[in-house]
This record gives sequence, C-alpha cells and structure tokens, in this order.
Amino acid sequence: MLRRFLLYLSAAAWARRMVTGWGMARGVARRFVAGETLDDAMTVTHTLNAAGLAVTLDYLGESIHKAKDTEPVVAAYRAVLERIAAENARSSISLKLTHLGLDISEDLCQANLRHILTDAQALGVPVTIDMESSVYTDATLRIYRTMRDEYGFANVSAVIQAYLYRSADDMRALASEGAHIRLCKGAYLEPPEVAYPDKADVDANYVRLMQDFLQAPPPAYLCIATHDETMIAAAETFIRERAIGRDRFEFQMLYGIRPQRQQALAAAGYLVRIYVPFGEAWYPYFMRRLAERPANLWFFARSLFRR
Ligand SMILES: Cc1cc2nc3c(=O)[nH]c(=O)nc-3n(C[C@H](O)[C@H](O)[C@H](O)COP(=O)(O)OP(=O)(O)OC[C@H]3O[C@@H](n4cnc5c(N)ncnc54)[C@H](O)[C@@H]3O)c2cc1C
Repeated sequence: MLRRFLLYLSAAAWARRMVTGWGMARGVARRFVAGETLDDAMTVTHTLNAAGLAVTLDYLGESIHKAKDTEPVVAAYRAVLERIAAENARSSISLKLTHLGLDISEDLCQANLRHILTDAQALGVPVTIDMESSVYTDATLRIYRTMRDEYGFANVSAVIQAYLYRSADDMRALASEGAHIRLCKGAYLEPPEVAYPDKADVDANYVRLMQDFLQAPPPAYLCIATHDETMIAAAETFIRERAIGRDRFEFQMLYGIRPQRQQALAAAGYLVRIYVPFGEAWYPYFMRRLAERPANLWFFARSLFRR
C-alpha cells in the first residue's frame, strides 16, 4: 500500500515540486545519489574502484518531452564516457530511453542512443539500457535488438524485471540470442494484469529466471542485480552446484544500499558492479528507493525533523 503510494508520488509533478523545493531533501537523497555533478560521480567511482568494485554510471533523468531537451543529455553522456576513458575508471554506463526521447519518437531516441553507443564502443565502455515501466518494455527490447543486430553494437545490454509475467518468455528468447542481461525485480507501479502483485511470487520468479539464464551457453551473460539475501544465496548455491564460470555473471547493487555486502561479495572473488546515479534530476529515482523499503521513509522523516 505504502509502496504503491510512494511510486505514485514518484511520478507526480506536484510532489516533485514540493520535495525538491526542500533543500534538506537533497541532503537526504545523497545517501543514494553520488552528487549533482560529473566530478562528484567520478570521485565516488574512483573510491569504489579502489575498494575493488566496478561501477555503472547513470546520469539521472527520464520522461523528456521536448526534442531539444535530449541534446544536453547526449552531451552529458559523451562527457561521462570521455572521463571514464581518460581516468581509466572501471565503469560502464546505464541510461534510460525516455531520457533520450522515447516519448517523443522512436527515431529520435534511436539516433541519440546511436551517438552514445558509437562513442562508447570506440572507448571500450559497455552500455546498459535500463528498463522503465511496462509501457516501454516492447519498445526498449526492440531498440536494444536493433542496436545489437542491425547496427552491430557489441557493447549494449538490456534489463529484465522479474515482476512481469512476460519476463519468462523474454528471458528464454534473450538467452538463445546470447544476450548480456541485467535481471532485477522491477521498481515501477504496475497493474496486476502485467505484474505479480505479491513479493513472494516476484522472488520465486527471480530465482527461476536467474537459474534458467545462468545455464544458457556463452556469450549469454547475467548481471544479478539485487540486494536480497535470499536471491544472492540462491545464486551462490546454484553457481557452486552447477560450476558456473565467474566469467558468465556478475552481481550488481545500487550505490548506498548494503555497502558491506557489496564489499563481502567482492572479497569472495565475485565481480561486483555498483550502479552510481548522479545529476540534478534525482527525485523519481530517490522516491523509487523509498518505495522499495518503507524503513527508508522513516530515515527520511527523521532526518527532516532533525535539521
Ligand atoms: C544495479 C541495479 C540496477 C537496477 N536497474 C533497474 C532497472 O533498470 N529497472 C527497474 O525497474 N529496476 C531496476 N533496479 C531496481 C530493482 O528492480 C529493485 O527495485 C531493487 O533492486 C530492490 O529489489 P531487491 O532485489 O533489492 O529486493 P527487495 O526485496 O526489494 O529488497 C531486499 C532487501 O534489500 C535491501 N534493500 C532493497 N532496496 C533497498 C533500498 N531502497 N534501501 C535500503 N535497502 C534496500 C533491504 O535489506 C531489503 O530487505 C535495479 C537494481 C539494481 C541493484
């Protein structure tokens, strides 16, 4: 109930105006966001790299409705790629297609994405297309496949959400295509017609999808994106029992969430990648993090009262 209300607020313009108007809310959001500038993001990236963790950098933003507003987004991502390469950072990038104009036209979005993928490929930086709400699933997978198959980009990967009923079919097809996939539970407000409403069903589906995909032949590659101890334990057990090679998967977690567990997985010899968002458009991302864990809301409220 609370999750649904917070996810509703994450997309409400009036709530965004109210929350981003509080200077102190920005300070609290810093728990999940590296900062507002690329310098902030690179500082966090180097710190995580030094601790043995890989990174994926996300320039925050989504739902752009004017074509000219996508130009600075492409420029920002190009700047991120240049800094990653120039500073020899161990980082990929993650991006959202509605940030690149998917709501305006698929052609514009594809053109923007191609600019970024071309630079990224030249610099040897992998790119993950984040998955947004189910309204965009078909278009996102279509664009991912177009970039991979028609334009031949070998550095692009996609995301599948275990809460969607359709994901079993999508994962089966992607496994047979040898895709590079991030598997997460899913962070958006979805109706029961398209997504499992109960967490237990989402969790069970996550384990099924993970196990099936881990058995796909190379070059299929799985990014196990979760903070859930049950999911992590299920992955570790399956990987051990089936002797799945460490070059076939990695663990991924979000910046600011379970940092000690991130370190422990890296110390156990796994490749662990941290999703590090930065930029001024932190509101919807921050609200989705609150929705995932109601305890974060009390942390947020306590911080507001303390200040
Ligand atoms: C690297 C990465 C990339 C992602 N990309 C996408 C994407 O492209 N599209 C998409 O829809 N979703 C994405 N997500 C979000 C994902 O869908 C989930 O909403 C999120 O990861 C929470 O699910 P969980 O697997 O951690 O399990 P949950 O069952 O939600 O949480 C398990 C435990 O993890 C801890 N935890 C989880 N979330 C939080 C939090 N916010 N604050 C503090 N502790 C927390 C708590 O201890 C909790 O009990 C991504 C997640 C990761 C890790």
